[in-house]
Amino acid sequence: MLVAIDGPAGAGKSTVARAVARELHFTYLASGAMYRCVALLSLAMPASEPAALARAARIELGERVLLDGRDVTEEIRTPEASEAASRVAADPGVREALVAKQRELIAGGDWVAEGRDIGTVVAPDAELKVFLTANPEERARRRAVELGADSATVLAEQALRDERDTTRSHSPLQAAPGAVVLDTTGMGVEQVVARIASLARDRAG
Ligand code: C5P
Repeated sequence: MLVAIDGPAGAGKSTVARAVARELHFTYLASGAMYRCVALLSLAMPASEPAALARAARIELGERVLLDGRDVTEEIRTPEASEAASRVAADPGVREALVAKQRELIAGGDWVAEGRDIGTVVAPDAELKVFLTANPEERARRRAVELGADSATVLAEQALRDERDTTRSHSPLQAAPGAVVLDTTGMGVEQVVARIASLARDRAG
C-alpha cells in the first residue's frame, strides 16, 4: 500500500509522514531529500548538466542520507541546498531521473512517500493521497523553529520557493485528483497523524 503526502514547504509533511509511517509500520520516503542531493552535486559541479548528475547519483535514504556513499544528512538541509533544490527540481530531466528512482523504490512493500508530486506524477494510483497545507505565516513559523532561524527571513525565502514550485511548467505543486486536502493550520501533529492513519486504515479495508 502507498500513502502519498504532498504539499508546500513547512506544511509539516516530513514530521507527519515520518510519524504516519511509524504508526502504520510502513517505510518512509522523503522524495525532497533526492532533489536536495542533486542540488549538492550541482553546487559542487556547476558545469555539469543537472539531469546527468541526477541520473548518475547513488542516493540512499534511511536514518542517514548517503550520496555516492557520503553522509550528507546535515548538508542537504542548509538554506543554500534548499534554494538549489527548488532550482534543480524545475529541470524536467532531473525530475524524470528522480521519479524513476522513486517508482523503483515504492514498487515493493508498504510506503508513506512525501513530496510535491507523489500523488500527481510518481504514483497517481496511490491508495491514499493527502495534500497537506497550512497558511504561509504558520508554515514559516514552524520552519523557523526547526531551523533556528528568523521567521520573517524564512517567510520571504518560502514565498520564493512556493512561487517557483507552483508555477513551474513541469509537475507544478498542486493537489492530486482525489487527494484529501488537509489544512493543518492550528492543528497539532498528533491530530494530523491520527487522521491520516485512520484514512489509510479505511482504504486498506
Ligand atoms: O521537501 P523538501 O523541502 O526537502 O524539498 C526540497 C525541494 O525539492 C522543494 O522545494 C521542491 O522544489 C523539490 N521537490 C520537488 N518534488 C518533490 C520533492 C521535492 O520538486 N517530490
